[in-house]
Amino acid sequence: MFNALVVNKNDEGKTSAAVEQIGLDQLPAGDVTVAVEYSTVNYKDGLCIGPGGGLVRNYPHIPGIDFAGTVEASDDARYKAGDKVVLTGWRVGEAHWGGYSQKARVKADWLVPLPNGLDTRQAMAVGTAGFTAMLAVMALEDHGIKDGPILVTGAAGGVGSVATAILAHLGHQVAAVTGRPETADYLTALGATQIVAREELNETIKRPMEAEAWGGCVDAVGGDMLARVLGQMKYGASVSAVGLAGGAGLPATVIPFLLRGVNLLGIDSVMQPYENRLRAWERIAKDLPMDKLEAMVQPATLSDLPGLGRDILKGQVKGRVVVNVNA
Ligand code: NDP
Repeated sequence: MFNALVVNKNDEGKTSAAVEQIGLDQLPAGDVTVAVEYSTVNYKDGLCIGPGGGLVRNYPHIPGIDFAGTVEASDDARYKAGDKVVLTGWRVGEAHWGGYSQKARVKADWLVPLPNGLDTRQAMAVGTAGFTAMLAVMALEDHGIKDGPILVTGAAGGVGSVATAILAHLGHQVAAVTGRPETADYLTALGATQIVAREELNETIKRPMEAEAWGGCVDAVGGDMLARVLGQMKYGASVSAVGLAGGAGLPATVIPFLLRGVNLLGIDSVMQPYENRLRAWERIAKDLPMDKLEAMVQPATLSDLPGLGRDILKGQVKGRVVVNVNA
């Protein structure tokens, strides 16, 4: 028997999450059984732990959209007992039991070998949020980063913190947008060269285009802020749209696309093919300074998760929460 955070739903439709003991025979089908070491808290995990998720199809459920650990048993030739692995995406923690558990059983196709230069804890300090930040940066590079600062929205959150650190390490000027002025020192330490107050960008657009300001953007917020930012991009610059922490609507006009050739790039970390995942993890090991990553980390245990799930939905988590499932 081993520990897992199990979310149950009662007959009235109310959910509750608690650490329970479960057995290997209860795990879902899969080719590889992993002794999980670390998982993390992402925005989606907040939805899956809490009542209103919509992402969870069946209860009881074990959330945790990412994990890193050691292979315990494998029916797939690509993995053997003792291999270190990392998992993000593939609806694990939503449609399939996830990483808030000391053991997980998954399809071999969903795993990636831990890249050289990262241990399992560091891999989860990065986690889905950091992996997505790297995909967002790679998408900007593929489309050409223009001169001028790169804007990162939702900067003190998970995606934003890692994007800020990577972009700064690559030598770019980074303008970090935050609604929490008290995080300014933290963001500057990650490499931000300019702090932009959320209120400056959160208003509904009044004009479809404003002065050209940003050479690229990693946007974790969406909504009014994304609409506003589109009209401030430099000619031909790109926005990697990652998230919707500020809303799913997009009250924009087509003008920035027509008159400034702005590119809006959708970033999806969930269904990335194996080769892309490997490439992104290798770039993370190379281009994300580990001291900066360490500055983002808040440690947690399985029993901390219900509270942290609520916090992340309120935008109150700073950086990355790393869950030691064996603590
Ligand atoms: P976090 O909660 O860690 O960060 C989100 C940040 O957005 C907050 O820290 C806050 O930053 C800012 N924010 C929150 N609410 C608002 C608001 N109402 N208006 C403006 N800014 C706001 O979440 P993550 O970084 O883990 O995820 C960010 C988004 O990206 C989520 O929507 C998530 O679902 C999505 N995501 C998408 C992925 C993909 O594959 N496309 C993968 C991973 C995440 P600050 O305090 O600095 O203002």
